Amino acid sequence: KLHNTILELKGNIRVFCRVRPLLSDDGADNEPKTVSFPTTTDNMGRGIELLQNGQKHSFIFDKVFVPESSQEDVFVEVSQLVQSALDGYKVCIFAYGQTGSGKTHTMMGTPGSFDDKGLIPRSLEQIFESRQTLQNQGWKYDMQVSMLEIYNETIRDLLTTNRPGSTELGTKQYAIKHDANGNTHVSDLTVVDVCSSREVSFLLSRAAQSRSVGKTQMNEQSSRSHFVFTMRITGVNEGTEQQVQGVLNLIDLAGSERLSKSGSTGDRLKETQAINKSLSSLSDVIFALAKKEEHVPYRNSKLTYLLQPCLGGDSKTLMVVNVSPAPSSLNESLCSLRFAARVN
Ligand code: ADP
Ligand code: MG
Repeated sequence: KLHNTILELKGNIRVFCRVRPLLSDDGADNEPKTVSFPTTTDNMGRGIELLQNGQKHSFIFDKVFVPESSQEDVFVEVSQLVQSALDGYKVCIFAYGQTGSGKTHTMMGTPGSFDDKGLIPRSLEQIFESRQTLQNQGWKYDMQVSMLEIYNETIRDLLTTNRPGSTELGTKQYAIKHDANGNTHVSDLTVVDVCSSREVSFLLSRAAQSRSVGKTQMNEQSSRSHFVFTMRITGVNEGTEQQVQGVLNLIDLAGSERLSKSGSTGDRLKETQAINKSLSSLSDVIFALAKKEEHVPYRNSKLTYLLQPCLGGDSKTLMVVNVSPAPSSLNESLCSLRFAARVN
């Protein structure tokens, strides 16, 4: 059965799929493979097949990265998109998938490592290198970053110097407002001017620390929340006076796994509902945009409302669907691919 993806409709939307290597933790060394990559001439590097109970499920994406694909291989396919933020485009790159499928590896990887650093550190290096080059053509750029997480439909500032748990945190509103120019303002959110990728790396590690503090307090919060990295880029050409305003959003989404409903009560149930709501809202928005529908339901979740100006219009969106090859993850992998192909 071939599931048609939203390929023909997509406009500025791209969907990549990345399958991580089998890990020793998967405990599946001797089990038959359930994921394969068919190579026919018309879908080279774009096809993936899942085998479940003797039934084949085939999908085609804009690009499929196999377990052997390196961080560099992935970045090569993304770098133009990142570059377009310097040309004034609004860009969103999402990592989607169940917990353990490789989202954080894809987005962050091992920061500081030459080979294993992910898409975020690579993007930042490229942006600051290009800024240097473009300076010779009269361009002057200003960059600002913010980092937040959305947990249970609530925004948490990851760059605030207030310690988490301090009473002041509770009084912050983080109200989202969009102005007529398509700029987003989140009240009380920390926004930092940055001049180098080193500076941003420092902020990223601060944000990671802030996330992990929440994690011990709140029950594995990091896989239950969306991480949103935003860089606003303002460029002015001193010769031509041309101005550009780009935005680069890099988003490590909450784990897409379906928690068993029976086991979920109280806070856990609320968490699950919040994640399901925001992931399905994201899918609704992207699908409405792909189909060029008149009504795009941005307001159904914090995530889609926050990113509204960067989804749609002439903005560019990339969804990287991360998949585990473990036979025990087969069901979730199929759900993820179907989410991306939007056939369920
Ligand atoms: P997620 O963020 O989706 O929960 P992680 O990125 O933390 O998943 O990945 C889970 C585990 O798999 C980690 O130990 C990570 O290092 C490893 N991993 C994920 N993707 C790859 C990859 N492409 N190559 C090697 N190891 C990977
Ligand atoms: Mg993760």
